[in-house]
Amino acid sequence: MITNNDKQLFAKHLLTEAGWAKDVLIKLDCNGVIKEMKPNTKLEPNFSGECLQGRVIPGLPNSHSHAFQWAMAGLGEQSGKNGDSFWTWRQAMYSFVDSISPDDLQAIASALYMQMLKSGYTSVGEFHYLHHNTNGAAYDNPAEMSQRIFESAKESGIGLTLLPVFYRYSGFGEQAPNDGQKRFIHDPQAYAALLDNVAKLSGQYQQSFGIAPHSLRAVNQQDLRSAISHLNTLNNKAPIHIHIAEQMREVNDCLDFHGKRPIEWLLDNQEVNDRWCLIHATHMTKQETQSVAQSQAVIAICTTTEANLGDGHFPMMDYKKHRGRWSVGSDSHISVDAAEELRWLEYQQRLAQQSRTLLVGGGYSSNGLWLWQQASRAGAQSLGRQAGVIAVGNKADFIELNSDSFSLMGKTDEQLIDAFIFNHQFSNDAIRSVWVNGLCQVKDGIHRNEEIIRAEYKNAINRLLQCRS
Ligand SMILES: [Zn+2]
Repeated sequence: MITNNDKQLFAKHLLTEAGWAKDVLIKLDCNGVIKEMKPNTKLEPNFSGECLQGRVIPGLPNSHSHAFQWAMAGLGEQSGKNGDSFWTWRQAMYSFVDSISPDDLQAIASALYMQMLKSGYTSVGEFHYLHHNTNGAAYDNPAEMSQRIFESAKESGIGLTLLPVFYRYSGFGEQAPNDGQKRFIHDPQAYAALLDNVAKLSGQYQQSFGIAPHSLRAVNQQDLRSAISHLNTLNNKAPIHIHIAEQMREVNDCLDFHGKRPIEWLLDNQEVNDRWCLIHATHMTKQETQSVAQSQAVIAICTTTEANLGDGHFPMMDYKKHRGRWSVGSDSHISVDAAEELRWLEYQQRLAQQSRTLLVGGGYSSNGLWLWQQASRAGAQSLGRQAGVIAVGNKADFIELNSDSFSLMGKTDEQLIDAFIFNHQFSNDAIRSVWVNGLCQVKDGIHRNEEIIRAEYKNAINRLLQCRS
């Protein structure tokens, strides 16, 4: 077992809250938390710790993941008979779900988290809703699938906030769940018991947890309240995630049932604060945009999934004007690339506005730096993780960039993150090493458990795709 007792690292260039620092000695406690950072330190000849020669920036938290969906990424791109939409994709996803076993889920999630780490994500919020066996009955251990996700986080080394999903109905007005949803469903008592189990597991695995009421269509007002009050008995600071306004059909159904739009209803009926993370707040009015920004909740924008599913444009310019907090998530994992989520967030604005460098404020500022810092700080908030900035008291979650990669060769500190995000190269060698809790998980593009994780994924995906053919 690797431990961090009195571990020390040395970084030649490191991005702090105040800007770039040089020759930084970093001391960690036994939990991988930074207890001291000393810039401008002369490296002693007998220094026994690891020395990071590349430039070091915070790792990006990934606020929104459905791990199992990665196994079907790329399989929803053939045109259907009567046209495709989010809803036809969802039907295809439900049929895929039917064959996933606990071993499959663990193999998929381990490989996915490994790929996340290689791309610059150091933690993930798993919005986990595949709970039951293929008949819809609970496993002997009702938290079996949750435990598999914790195991995957351990195998891969990623920081995890497990968000067990509370899913009860198929639509507004307490519509009965459909057959495709049978593996997701809980009544309030079973959900509370699951949450108790998840809280215990998170302690055993030294990870974090929160809750994820799936959406306003999947739980009623009482369910939402009871889940939050039960969470508060376990941890009254833990995060609360919800899918909120991804599709116009969902907004219209909410209007029909509640007489209010989903975000409007949520803000009127819950105390939404900095514990909340609203996933896909795609369809917001100007008033909703301003109110969410003022609440200090985080909005998780899943740029590539929202594009892939044809969700719509998130009103980023307006939200930014109100200083709203936001992070990114790879969601369905149609792309697992931290920089790409940010690049396309900016590119969406450029295409719409016919202009450039739109998201950063002020003249002569680095757009890439702004994007990375906003998403890493708010991402850490959304996961209830002490991280997002490399600072004393935070977990040592960071990535070391490779100055010898084609994208980053010759770049100054000021140009570095712009080049990392916007000079996209197929070779994908811009990251030299990845650290979570002060432990190195990826070095020179290779994960510490690369071979076994890859082999297990190959077995699982071959079996799953054969089941379908
Ligand atoms: Zn989602």
